[in-house]
Amino acid sequence: MTSLPESVPMVELAASYVAGKWAAGALAETVEVTSPATGQVVGAIGVAGTEEVDAAVAAARAALATWRQVSPADRGAALGRLADALTARKGELADLATAEIGSPRSWSTFGQVLTATGVLKAYAAIAPEYPFTATRPSMTGGTVEVRQVPVGVVGAIVPWNTPLFIAALKLGPALAAGCTVVLKPAPDAPLAFGVLMEAIEQAGIPDGVVNVVNGGTSTGELLVEHPGVDKISFTGSTTVGAKIGAACGTRVRRCSTELGGKSAAIVLPDAPLERTVKGLVGGVMGNNGQLCAALTRILLPRSRYDEFVSALQVAVEALTVGDPADRSTDIGPLINEAARDKAEGFLRRARDEGATVLVGGERPNLPGWFVAPALVAATNDMEIAREEVFGPVAVVIAYDDSEPDAEDAVSIANDSRYGLVGAVWSADEQRAAEVAARLQVGSVAVNSTAVLDFGSPFGGFKQSGIGREGGPEGLAGFVEYQAIIR
Ligand code: NAD
Repeated sequence: MTSLPESVPMVELAASYVAGKWAAGALAETVEVTSPATGQVVGAIGVAGTEEVDAAVAAARAALATWRQVSPADRGAALGRLADALTARKGELADLATAEIGSPRSWSTFGQVLTATGVLKAYAAIAPEYPFTATRPSMTGGTVEVRQVPVGVVGAIVPWNTPLFIAALKLGPALAAGCTVVLKPAPDAPLAFGVLMEAIEQAGIPDGVVNVVNGGTSTGELLVEHPGVDKISFTGSTTVGAKIGAACGTRVRRCSTELGGKSAAIVLPDAPLERTVKGLVGGVMGNNGQLCAALTRILLPRSRYDEFVSALQVAVEALTVGDPADRSTDIGPLINEAARDKAEGFLRRARDEGATVLVGGERPNLPGWFVAPALVAATNDMEIAREEVFGPVAVVIAYDDSEPDAEDAVSIANDSRYGLVGAVWSADEQRAAEVAARLQVGSVAVNSTAVLDFGSPFGGFKQSGIGREGGPEGLAGFVEYQAIIR
């Protein structure tokens, strides 16, 4: 029987947090938050409508005048204090993620919390060093001062899979740039935002600089359409990202999108078996396979295909599936019934198309929305190799390694409408880095699954999104350039 960690109380959050306060009064409309492992209700949120979204945007607009005047060094210091306040509550936040998302407790401290604090700390260091003003000679013999000024009020729309981390990827650069923010969490996993707002208060970030509106699609649409929002920063599915991009386009509103992926891990013929297999399994199964950067296509050299497939099969079969609160669990449930059904549908159609499910894919005898971690042998033209499953499903694909320079592997990796991340494994790090540079993706890990560096840009090529978050390049997405010519 699965259980909730004892330290997780039932969390109720109002429809909005505006100018330093959760809205008072009874919730007019509520959404329950349930544990995907047990179905148990772990929290509830109110749903923000027009009035709450108007109030949140107005509070962010009012706070902008003062926050943009705070020095970059002081804005950075505030982000550092925010990172510290969240770090002090990392156990509680990891328990919450396990309760509402089903993230294995063995993973959630790092995956859900320390990734967020890592990004905030990176921006604490970047803010004071960022070139907000630069002077250069003008073409007429005078000077041009190039200023980078905050874009203004940011509507930040967050998915459910790593909510605190994605919120940090938006808050870090936005606050460092001098912007103010209205966050919209996803209704499946909004509970960490209660602790986040307490940490914001504790960090001394002024009221109104960060606000929250809770709810689903309708609340998100109100934020996207609001005339008081200067930029939408969206993370989520490619389908919704395309709609939001179109809505922003008609309003000439700034917009950046971090979307889905179908990322490839290339195993070069000289890669060491044991270390590579361990990395590959971690790279696809983290957070129960529900990571945008999951390395879901494993490209194996034909000359070592059988050897790697056997080792991967053993490693996937050895994963412990069960209660995410139990620290020995590797794989917890999917977020909800629809996600479980979607993953099963992908596996059914993969079999129909001629793919072989080598291991997993069945429903374990557990109460939640579980799918046993699966390894599927397929070709790159099959749906299972082209679409994002967002579940614990790894696809192995053979490539022709008789060709020089891993040409076939690179061409299969790049044959995707997505372009988020990648990985290359080899005994020769330099050769792996050369292959990495030929992938049409935003970041590539060499001999690891660390596809994101907290101080470096993260984001997609192609339909994995437009724009970058992370590093100074991420901050640049939250400024407007202004040239003063003298
Ligand atoms: P989703 O697109 O369904 O929802 C994301 C957010 O948008 C939620 O807050 C949702 O309530 C809101 N939303 C939905 N429709 C909207 C609309 N029409 N207008 C405004 N807001 C709307 O995605 P999800 O299921 O929450 O998250 C999973 C997806 O997110 C996966 O595709 C995953 O790859 C992607 N993701 C990408 C990254 C990245 O950095 N590239 C990171 C994490 C997740």
